[in-house]
Amino acid sequence: MTKAAPFSTFVVGSLPRPQWVRDLIEDRKAGRISGADAETLLDDAVPSAIRMQERAGLDYVSDGEWRRESYVKVFADAVDGFESDLLAGGGSPFSTLPYPAVTTALKPNRPIATDEARFLKSRSASKNIVAVPSPYTIARRMWDPHHSTSAYATRDEFMDACIPIVRGEVRALIALSVEAIQLDDPWLALLVDPSYREREGIKDVDHEIEMSVRSVNEVTEGLDDAFISVHLCHAHFDRRHSTRGSYELIIEALGHMNVDRFAIELATPDSGGLDALKNFPTDKILGLGAIDHTDQNVEIPEIVIQRVENALQYVPAERITLNPDCGFAPSSANPMDLDESYLKLTAMCQAAQILKDRFS
Ligand SMILES: [Zn+2]
Repeated sequence: MTKAAPFSTFVVGSLPRPQWVRDLIEDRKAGRISGADAETLLDDAVPSAIRMQERAGLDYVSDGEWRRESYVKVFADAVDGFESDLLAGGGSPFSTLPYPAVTTALKPNRPIATDEARFLKSRSASKNIVAVPSPYTIARRMWDPHHSTSAYATRDEFMDACIPIVRGEVRALIALSVEAIQLDDPWLALLVDPSYREREGIKDVDHEIEMSVRSVNEVTEGLDDAFISVHLCHAHFDRRHSTRGSYELIIEALGHMNVDRFAIELATPDSGGLDALKNFPTDKILGLGAIDHTDQNVEIPEIVIQRVENALQYVPAERITLNPDCGFAPSSANPMDLDESYLKLTAMCQAAQILKDRFS
């Protein structure tokens, strides 16, 4: 439990982009600007995302994931084998964002996150957090029975092909001395909602949970010295969650994952309260979702402290760290407000400082 001090503050990863950066991502995708020219402009933009987090007081900062069209599509952007925009919505009933599907055998083309991480480390003296999508979430989002079977007969087979690629990326991030590495696996959390399972035609939920656990453990096998988190949430677009419900169904499985910390969406009422934490594994750090990014009202520190005090009924102070419920804008198309995220992160960090003083 020594890998993060109590009440350390993290982002989950993404931050809302200024409109000109959102336009830049769109222009890059449409071919109106070259990838190289877009990178040059993003090299100018990203330091402001870093400085914003440092000014808010965060202990672990990201690059805001401003270079990514989405937190999971970043895998398809780095690995050949996908065809763009084949899938509508990508699992969310609200998002209109189209998604790629795998159509041919995977072939890594360039790093997923290592270049971003190298830039982040060069521009920040803070500890850093870098996220990569988990193989299970990649497999749920980008394997499709109508488009993908000639490349990979089953979703499981596709996931197995993703595992060594994600593992290689995690190892590269460790080699860069990234302080905190996160596997984004919201699609494990979505399983708790029966209407999602019905929508996706999921009959054997235990098998799905097992796929997620196995993929995380195969990615992290032998990497015990690194500090690795898994992020779980109900996914969101335009302040609406894709699913809802308590994490009772999956909470015990978290104890079987070979990682150090779980950053879990818990501030929103859509997560069904904190009771599921009674079975939170006793040897893991909780990344308590303490900011509800779907609520436009900016939390005051007292509200964050109240949320922490509620969590203390289940998890002791030495195993609690703080983060917002999710990245504020996991896709660049997600219409979220950058200044609002700054104010919310600031309130979270002010609360964390009070808690650090109280429990030191
Ligand atoms: Zn999330």
